[in-house]
Amino acid sequence: MSDPKDFTHFGLDPQLLAAITEMGYTTPTPIQAKAIPVVLRGGDVMGAAQTGTGKTAGFGLPMLQRLMAHANASMSPARHPVRGLILEPTRELADQTAENMKKYASRSPLRVAVVYGGVDMKPQTEALRRGCEVVIATPGRLLDHIEQKNTSLSQVQIVVLDEADRMLDMGFLPDISRILNFLPKERQSLMFSATFSEEIKKLAANFLRSPQLIETAARNATADNVKQEVYKLHESEKTDALLEILRTRGPDGGRLTQVLVFVNAKIECRRLARQLQKAGVNADAIHGDKTQDERMKALEGFKNGTIEVLVATDVAARGLDIVELPVVINYDVPFQSEDYVHRIGRTGRAGASGLTIMLMTGSDDRAVAGIERLTKQQFEVRTLTGVERPRQRPERDRGEGRDRGETRDRGEGRGRGDRGDRGARSGAPSRPAPRQPADDFFSKPYEPSATDAAVSEEVKAAGSEPAETARRPAGRVSTLLGGRKK
Ligand code: AMP
Repeated sequence: MSDPKDFTHFGLDPQLLAAITEMGYTTPTPIQAKAIPVVLRGGDVMGAAQTGTGKTAGFGLPMLQRLMAHANASMSPARHPVRGLILEPTRELADQTAENMKKYASRSPLRVAVVYGGVDMKPQTEALRRGCEVVIATPGRLLDHIEQKNTSLSQVQIVVLDEADRMLDMGFLPDISRILNFLPKERQSLMFSATFSEEIKKLAANFLRSPQLIETAARNATADNVKQEVYKLHESEKTDALLEILRTRGPDGGRLTQVLVFVNAKIECRRLARQLQKAGVNADAIHGDKTQDERMKALEGFKNGTIEVLVATDVAARGLDIVELPVVINYDVPFQSEDYVHRIGRTGRAGASGLTIMLMTGSDDRAVAGIERLTKQQFEVRTLTGVERPRQRPERDRGEGRDRGETRDRGEGRGRGDRGDRGARSGAPSRPAPRQPADDFFSKPYEPSATDAAVSEEVKAAGSEPAETARRPAGRVSTLLGGRKK
């Protein structure tokens, strides 16, 4: 008998079931429970889900199931056309999605290939030319392969636009539009996004046909199994505060060992990692200036425990698949409220509990208010003297979301060379004018996407160089963080 609490009731092929059993999946996550039946029926889906909710299997398993009818062991490439396409915003996310898809498909003859920029095209070309039913790709590199006739998308039946908000944020809309033109009109389209802005709704209206909305938590909400702490302090105290957190917030008040620390700029990323190393912490930095190899190596070290603290920028950290990361620290308050949702999505994944700590300074009030509005909560902001509340929200903040498109150039990853895809390309079409939303759902009022601080990242980073160590008020910092010792 099939049990609705396990994977057997979906009617998935035994080869897929065997693969996920091997991976230790026993109970579908909420997004999987909702998405799998809808995708199996062939409908379009707009999924509100962040990384860590199990969304990859939510779209990946039913995609593979639908393609099973075409599974064959023939050696002929012609018998393995691309039938499923998954578009991802970054190399890391593409890699991790592909890793999971390959595991799900491992017991079946279905072939899975991944292509992304920043690495040699040759092995990707060979994989595409051998034929593969599922391709996971970043948009620019996929277009390169299409132009070189290494693959054809004319038989794609299912396409997934994953992390759509980040795709838009990174300026991929023209590339996505070009790719969609290579796909058959008759197809199933799925779109996933952690946050909803007007732009996302417009894209959905263009991309999807009568989509079913699938959401497992309030839109733009943060997982409620994540404890969120906010500390207000002086800029010059932040590094000491971080060191204190790393020393004392681990199990039983001991050292923390697997921590992702977010900063807003590359320069800050490098500086902080160096400072942590000097203080005896095994830290590494991951940002857009690092090569793909360096990023993978840092990530590997982090996963296997040789690196205790990974300092990351938003773009570099996007899509890092680290299960049950216990603690995420926002060393800088993100400029964009949505980034907060993404950042803390690294912890409390797939039901595990997590802790996130954010350090804010007096100049972050508006950005923090934006995060509170987006995530519909009020932080208890702790200061050296205790809890400071309530704070006044700046009047100007209320309800005015800035178009995300305006912020494309704000910092790392917004340039083409930096976004983990292919290099500069000329003749990219200009952004197409989006059609009006066709589906009623998409024209309903939403919580606007709050973007607050219009401060340049590099300016901010330059201003955030800490004062020299002589000024470090270590005692004050440990008081701030609960009076923990040493
Ligand atoms: P995702 O949100 O798809 O990136 O998944 C986050 C992590 O949860 C990945 O490491 C998955 O392998 C894992 N995962 C996904 N679904 C399940 C499940 N039903 N049971 C246990 N782990 C899962």
